[in-house]
Amino acid sequence: MKTTNPREITVVGAGLTGLTAAVLLARSGHKVTVLDRDPQGAPPGNEQAWEHWARPGVSQFRQPHLMLPRWHQQMLSEFPELAAGLPAAGARRVNMLHLQSAAAVGGWQDGDEAFDTLTARRPVLEAALCALLVRGQRRLRIRRGVAVRDLLVERSGTVPRVLGVRTTAGELRSDLVVDAAGRHTRLPRWAAQAGADSAMDSEDSGFIYYGRHFRGRDGRAPQGANPVLSHFPSLSVLTLPCDAGTYCLVLVAGSRDRALRGLRHEPQWLAAVAANPVASRWAAQGDPITPVMPIAGIQDVRRSYVRDGEPTVLGLLPVGDSSAATNPSLGRGAAIGAIQASVLRNVLADGPGMRGSSRWLMSGPAHRPSPRGSRARCASTATGWRKCRPTPTACPTRPRTNRGR
Ligand SMILES: Cc1cc2nc3c(=O)[nH]c(=O)nc-3n(C[C@H](O)[C@H](O)[C@H](O)COP(=O)(O)OP(=O)(O)OC[C@H]3O[C@@H](n4cnc5c(N)ncnc54)[C@H](O)[C@@H]3O)c2cc1C
Repeated sequence: MKTTNPREITVVGAGLTGLTAAVLLARSGHKVTVLDRDPQGAPPGNEQAWEHWARPGVSQFRQPHLMLPRWHQQMLSEFPELAAGLPAAGARRVNMLHLQSAAAVGGWQDGDEAFDTLTARRPVLEAALCALLVRGQRRLRIRRGVAVRDLLVERSGTVPRVLGVRTTAGELRSDLVVDAAGRHTRLPRWAAQAGADSAMDSEDSGFIYYGRHFRGRDGRAPQGANPVLSHFPSLSVLTLPCDAGTYCLVLVAGSRDRALRGLRHEPQWLAAVAANPVASRWAAQGDPITPVMPIAGIQDVRRSYVRDGEPTVLGLLPVGDSSAATNPSLGRGAAIGAIQASVLRNVLADGPGMRGSSRWLMSGPAHRPSPRGSRARCASTATGWRKCRPTPTACPTRPRTNRGR
């Protein structure tokens, strides 16, 4: 989809969403500069990326990530080359429903292919996406090691307008700043200092991940017999296949459960795993390749620069986690970011006034789920999964609130 109105766009953040948005915008005809504060690009080789790619800007970089079927559908519809490219780069094909035994899910049924996806350890996946999508993009420039420190804002009109960013390497002016700086983005704070309100709705997810990656002894991740997320009294067990025979085993405990905080120590973690029928089966089939890597304080957050239906800032749009960081145990983050990236490309390709597009993108309810999503209730049974079958939806091509602008 080519734009009729090419713009200069700055994308803050080269994570999963920032990269996807930047490539889509560049392919559409915009001139895009991506800034990321992390200096290092992906080293060559999957194991190098896993072991050595330093990404302090993404605290969950080595945490378990499963790419949902919805992400897979969205990415393949935008980038058909990924269908062959990602498996060639090491990503594993899985069907999320049929990770369980045939008896548990009632065998294959028509439509179950909607649960196909490609998945990998996050550094491996992100490295593959960089290599496959960014190469040869003339209108795209990625500047790593450049941190955004503030926004350049004009306050002459009734609504502040962002004109660009101040960075550790100087000022950069552009028509639009896309905030893809992730769940800890500071751009809303800087926008507020310039007089632009952002409404924030946040809630502690209420759990701590105590996870660890393994490599299967026979070079394969264990086959299921349990759903991806299995619930037990006091804790849940997350079992995720990854690339190259690796997999992830996570004990998910309530953040208020002080008694279980000892799970961050290996002996306690091993004892809890041994006592759990699902976790012990997965642990027995491989060797750990990481220590226990707890992550706590995970917030579900939604941000919006809209008050009473009107934008509070112009020229600034959040996408991905900076817009909606959702409960990670449901694995929706990358899918939401990919959908938002496509919507942003469509809105800007249509050439509407910037004010209308930004208002639509930041207030549109379609792809901005509430922190507590309904899938949480149904995602752990085969019937629930089929009820939740993802139906590919076309991304809207026109901003719905843009009439008359
Ligand atoms: C424990 C955990 C498990 C998860 N599991 C899953 C899962 O299974 N499936 C799934 O889909 N999602 C999962 N998620 C969510 C997923 O990680 C995010 O949705 C995804 O990373 C969002 O991508 P993003 O590009 O919006 O932000 P990020 O990937 O966080 O990238 C933000 C980028 O912005 C850069 N940056 C930040 N500030 C600045 C600045 N001032 N200047 C320049 N650059 C800056 C950072 O360096 C970083 O590269 C999980 C999250 C957590 C916490």
